[in-house]
Amino acid sequence: MFSVRSSNQPKVTSTKEEIDLAVASFFELFPTSADCEEAICIAVAPHGVICECGTLLTNRNFAERTVRCTRCKKKNFVTADTFFHGVKKPVAYCLGTFLLSEGIAVSANYFAKCASVASSTGGVILHELSDVVMKNMDSAANVLTAKFREIIGKRSKETPAREHPFAEQAEEEKRAAERAKKKGEMPSLQPQIQDEPEGLKACGDLERKVYHQIKHEPVSLDSLSDTIDAPLTDLLGALTMLQLSGFSRALPGNKFLAIKDYDDAVLPMTKPASDKVRKGSLKHFFQYVRKTHHRISRKYAQRYAARYWCFLDRKRWTFTTLMNACAKSSRPSYVQLTSYVSPLAVKLAFPDTQ
Ligand SMILES: [Zn+2]
Repeated sequence: MFSVRSSNQPKVTSTKEEIDLAVASFFELFPTSADCEEAICIAVAPHGVICECGTLLTNRNFAERTVRCTRCKKKNFVTADTFFHGVKKPVAYCLGTFLLSEGIAVSANYFAKCASVASSTGGVILHELSDVVMKNMDSAANVLTAKFREIIGKRSKETPAREHPFAEQAEEEKRAAERAKKKGEMPSLQPQIQDEPEGLKACGDLERKVYHQIKHEPVSLDSLSDTIDAPLTDLLGALTMLQLSGFSRALPGNKFLAIKDYDDAVLPMTKPASDKVRKGSLKHFFQYVRKTHHRISRKYAQRYAARYWCFLDRKRWTFTTLMNACAKSSRPSYVQLTSYVSPLAVKLAFPDTQ
């Protein structure tokens, strides 16, 4: 059944028809496994392979991952040290890349069916591709997984026995605090940021967190309480403290902005999302997760946030840019893939920040 959407209702998932159509176009573009092998080789070495002896080799045969050097006769592996090295199911990897780059939201099970691989393999491939996307999310906004209660409903090996999947959150907070204590640091839920004015360190941990949230543009109290997991009264207290210490000022509309005594040039070029966009986006992300993946585990929340970025951003992620990002990446081992735990603050792309 086709769903009818009005233009002011952004889509939150892909219908079965949309997925099937995209899968059909993929198999038109890449009808055989050899076509996928070739797409991989082109992504890894678009201009040829440079042999250890310095010779540029352009004599590779179609769909072949090895090429013999014309000068020293050494056998060169095109995909060595890249994400694609040793990939045994080139069709599934290329199809996964294609669907993500077409902005298709697909569950692991349905993807596996389309790619003719086992369900578990489908899941692994999507997680591996998500890992590549995650490496490109430095400029995305930080959102605490403490806010994700409504979408976390899947157990993982991090979930404490006989508890709700969201109990992982408290568990991970405890671990983060222990890790910080071991290192002799203040336990902090926010990523550490080096650039802060002298004297701010004397303020409390919460004041510092607030400071880093308001240093780029005016932020409302509402938005602060979305990103910092602290009671409103504590946030207000921290804001007052910052003002009294000369580190921030209040602006009309109940917004706050940091006063900086360091060079503006260190600030990132991209403007953070406005309050309205942040709020709308978080809700939209939750809908995307619920409609596509139903419930997710806290452990892998960051990977779903990465896939959500692909779903949103048709300019940044195309088949070529995603294949190239894979080519520049290494593939995690199975142990690395399954031992991953999302940080307490995950990177979430909002439409106007990427
Ligand atoms: Zn050579």
